[in-house]
Amino acid sequence: MVAGLDEKLEPIYQDVLRRNPGETEFHQAVREVLETLGPVLVKYPELADQKIIQRICEPERQIIFRVPWQDDRGQIQINRAFRVEFNSALGPFKGGMRFHPSVYLGIIKFLGFEQIFKNALTGLPIGGGKGGSDFDPKGKSDSEIMRFCQSLMTELYRHIGEHTDVPAGDIGVGQREIGYLFGQYKRITNRYESGVFTGKGLSWGGSRARTEATGYGTIFFLEEMLKVRGESIEGKTCIVSGSGNVAIYAIEKAMAMGARVIACSDSNGVVVDQDGIDLDLLKQIKEIERRRLTSYVQEKTSATYLEDGCIWNIPCQVALPCATQNELTAKDAQCLIKNGCIAVAEGANMPTTPEGIRVLLEAGIPFGPGKAANAGGVATSALEMQQNASRDSWSFEHTEQRLQQIMVNIHRHCYETSEEFDAQGNYVVGANIAGFLKVGQAMAALGLV
Ligand code: NDP
Repeated sequence: MVAGLDEKLEPIYQDVLRRNPGETEFHQAVREVLETLGPVLVKYPELADQKIIQRICEPERQIIFRVPWQDDRGQIQINRAFRVEFNSALGPFKGGMRFHPSVYLGIIKFLGFEQIFKNALTGLPIGGGKGGSDFDPKGKSDSEIMRFCQSLMTELYRHIGEHTDVPAGDIGVGQREIGYLFGQYKRITNRYESGVFTGKGLSWGGSRARTEATGYGTIFFLEEMLKVRGESIEGKTCIVSGSGNVAIYAIEKAMAMGARVIACSDSNGVVVDQDGIDLDLLKQIKEIERRRLTSYVQEKTSATYLEDGCIWNIPCQVALPCATQNELTAKDAQCLIKNGCIAVAEGANMPTTPEGIRVLLEAGIPFGPGKAANAGGVATSALEMQQNASRDSWSFEHTEQRLQQIMVNIHRHCYETSEEFDAQGNYVVGANIAGFLKVGQAMAALGLV
């Protein structure tokens, strides 16, 4: 079942399909936003006159380039990299770099498009962008990763800068990769420009709590959604897909707030541990040793591993998709509801399919869309930029407090916007409209640029 679009928006969407053939994830992200904007054009007709939606759907600039590098056997390898600078009405382009074999222009554009609204919701001065490469970091040595990052930056450096475009991490890009990228940028430009990258290490310009921020922020958002219903995360049984940066710190904060997290996953399978996931063991395996999740059950034999299993079949009260796009379908949503799930918050970007979202919303399940629920990562990146600009370094407690306050504000803003547009408690409507209005009004004020 696909919801209809407002008659003013249908031709805009058709134009997006025509101009961007084959980019299915980008089409999906645009459609999800357009489905909620009909009432906005009635209330703010000047935004339609100014063609703000058509302009927002077209990136300001898109860069595609070759990344040649040599592997450890001396063989030449060629990858393709992207940087899509989507919208700079509110500040420099800002968004992570993703290294994954599935990356192509449509993925980077969906992520960049989402990023515009997410960044607007943080209330901080950052525009939207995204980048990445079809490079697969799995199984690569440290020196291969370094050579690849250096080659990529040899082209990318000319397009980025602390006032222009500020990349960060995403799937396959953590502190190690950011170190290599930043190191090469510094070498080529002969400038120690800390603000050009976020997600840096603490000893070279990073912010405390940035590593934790996306996962922690998702749990803060979830707690606000539950509060509206007179509930709390304390004592709830949770499942978290993925076992990367977002998943690990969502698990950490959920546990710290009294939840029982019994499952997590990677692209090969699911670990179920009814004692509660052993976080120290998980961090050791994923962050330090960079091993697969199968190692978890080798170390903790009471846990079970479901090869190719679907995490959403495991009964829980709270589901947190924190791995990748379109990982939670309508069938999965029905299964969650049948098993007693009362809330879903997205740590990943667009992990729930449009049909999955519809099933959850129709069942009245509080659903936190990624562009609101996972905005804590980029918000803390903007706090890292603030610290870099003032050559300061804040404590963990102070940074976490700022993060929590930002998530509370995002939740309130989305909730109030959903009420204003007669969709009380629908955070998809609230997040899309609140983010769109902030960017759209800035674009209108800046003239036809
Ligand atoms: P990581 O690379 O640290 O971890 C990704 C996790 O997701 C891994 O467990 C990985 O398993 C799994 N995964 C990735 N691709 C797939 C796939 N195609 N199918 C099944 N599992 C998959 O990435 P992050 O934790 O940083 O990012 C996770 C999600 O959160 C992404 O959607 C990202 O865009 C989003 N996000 C991240 C932010 C951040 O600050 N890092 C900020 C906001 C959103 P495997 O190892 O097997 O590939």
